[in-house]
Amino acid sequence: MAFCHAFSRDLGSNASAECWYGLPTKNGPLGWSLAGQGHFPSSSSRIGPPLQKEAFLQRIAKRGSKAKADEGARGRPKAPAVKAPAVKKKAGAAAARAGTRRAPKSADVAALQERLTRAVPHPHVELLFQDPWQLLVAVILSAQSTDRRVNLVTPDLFRRWSTPAELAAAPPDQVEEVIKSTGFFRNKTKAVQSASRLVAERFGGEVPRSMPELLELPGVARKTANVILGSAYGVASGIATDTHVMRVSRRLGLTLAETPEKIELDLCQAFPAESWTAMGHRLLLHGRYLCTARAPACADCPLNELCPSRLTQAVGAWEERAEHEAAEMQGRAQGFVRL
Ligand code: SF4
Repeated sequence: MAFCHAFSRDLGSNASAECWYGLPTKNGPLGWSLAGQGHFPSSSSRIGPPLQKEAFLQRIAKRGSKAKADEGARGRPKAPAVKAPAVKKKAGAAAARAGTRRAPKSADVAALQERLTRAVPHPHVELLFQDPWQLLVAVILSAQSTDRRVNLVTPDLFRRWSTPAELAAAPPDQVEEVIKSTGFFRNKTKAVQSASRLVAERFGGEVPRSMPELLELPGVARKTANVILGSAYGVASGIATDTHVMRVSRRLGLTLAETPEKIELDLCQAFPAESWTAMGHRLLLHGRYLCTARAPACADCPLNELCPSRLTQAVGAWEERAEHEAAEMQGRAQGFVRL
């Protein structure tokens, strides 16, 4: 089970976590289901409120030099079992000695984007939901669990308590019973009820649309807020950085950082703002199903030639590998039913 820093922090727990997206497919602007074609508001996504974006970019600029110094002192991330290509390793080591992270060339990033877009043509959140509040609850429940498991309990949960006010007022033991199989059910019950209460009482029953307001909700940290803003509202506020995104980003040399916050900053610098939400989903899905923690399928990976951490040579042309990954993604979308 992978460890999910942000979720542990979100729930105020020390427990380890697995990731929060569980099953594929979507049907409309808010919900995902099986028979539907994937859709994501990437190019049409509007960027967050000017002040919010500006503040975030200022934060990136401000922290840049310190982050570089910190990471330079730490050196390169631990190499995989098999030696990385010599030229990449030298470049990384030189960058570490010089106190700078290895910034991929812009051509690398452009090529990565092209290949990932081909391999994951319909990036999406794999939690089932019909409105932003349901997504908020589902994301909180997915801590230390899987999206597949969460998708099994949320239909019953939302059938019993269909609004933030109703869930906030529900008897905790009944909520615990419904969500028990997702694990850590007592903490999760407190988190979803507290967040729902605040949504009902302070925000008139509507999940807020800004990062600062979302961060006021119990159980919500930056990663959760990014998912809600990006997937429920189409606002590209940042890149939701979970354990899969962290692993893939480091393997690809997009970052040398170790914390979700620093990795998100590096990714936001690497990719254009309008692609943040979609690229976040693409990196996550690629990591969940192909570049897995224990057995990355490097031979079949469409990013192989661009990856300094590849374990084996690629088989076939990258276009064929990308088509194969896209077909596998689509295959996983078969069989879901929209809430
Ligand atoms: S080649 Fe692909 S699967 Fe292998 S480590 Fe790199 S990104 Fe992951």
